[in-house]
Amino acid sequence: MTFPDISRVTAALKADVYQLCRTEGRMVGTDGHAVAERFVARRLEEIGLLPYRGTSFALPYEWEGIAFTNFAGVVPGRDRSLAPLLIGAHYDSAIPAPSADDNGAAVAICLALGELAVKHGGFERDLIVAIFDAEEPPYFQGPPMGSIRFAEDELDDRGVHFAMIYDLVGHDVPMALFKDLLFATGAESHPELPGLLNGITLPKKLRLIATLNRYVGDMSDHGVFRKSGIPYLFFSCGRWEHYHQPTDTPDRLNYAKMARITQLSFEVLLRADEGKLKPSAGAADTVAFEAGTFRRSAGRFFPLLCRWAGVKDLDRREAIDALASKLLSTGL
Ligand SMILES: [Zn+2]
Repeated sequence: MTFPDISRVTAALKADVYQLCRTEGRMVGTDGHAVAERFVARRLEEIGLLPYRGTSFALPYEWEGIAFTNFAGVVPGRDRSLAPLLIGAHYDSAIPAPSADDNGAAVAICLALGELAVKHGGFERDLIVAIFDAEEPPYFQGPPMGSIRFAEDELDDRGVHFAMIYDLVGHDVPMALFKDLLFATGAESHPELPGLLNGITLPKKLRLIATLNRYVGDMSDHGVFRKSGIPYLFFSCGRWEHYHQPTDTPDRLNYAKMARITQLSFEVLLRADEGKLKPSAGAADTVAFEAGTFRRSAGRFFPLLCRWAGVKDLDRREAIDALASKLLSTGL
């Protein structure tokens, strides 16, 4: 399918962020969280998904007396016996504030992708749209973390074919020349993923840098999929000055950039749906692939970027290690 008018996608993303990201925030156990739960359930219904399990999108669970709720809807595939694709993002907030980039933007992108998939008539495989609870502290990477509970308690025997997780995907990267950057980790999780990504033409005004997850660690909900050996990609624009601050508000997001991320993601889903992504013996060697994404993203500034990191080229793992740690030292 041809991607719909991108300005319509931009408007839909903006409407969802503004509705979800209210001043009181979405901390577990608060009224704001309850409002957010109703919003997510309503939107999954409106875009035409089916519940992943049973008759409800809501998948409640409890931990030490605290009530949590994951949500999962599905766009049925043509062969429902196949392992599904999954897209996911958390909807809880770290502080009682709008938390638009963390993580309203990602929720909006997942909803937009679900809607696009419905309009596309579905894929060969099911597409699960998972909106997770409890990603933020004090639950981060602990037993009640929503994505961990979903993967361990709710996934059926088909498992997951390929997962894409989003966090902090609404903002411009705070580097003058690289505002339109998007980072991806996880291409190393399957030998076919680098080729799959290289085969996609990026939307105009979006640049992608793909590198190893271990440079940043399991910063979000992809951790449980990575540990289970499921091929995955984690998308993020990194941290910025408004990270976990009351100033992370809807007016500061770049909705056009979010629409481009949605467009790229839809292409990835189409290819992962066709792709075999067969269980593989080992991780991929992604040095050349990663270097290519840096080279394309930096363009004529590539030599400058290398010099800044104190390396000659990105032809070895040690050189990419050096550049990654230099980039991370800027606060990304
Ligand atoms: Zn987050």
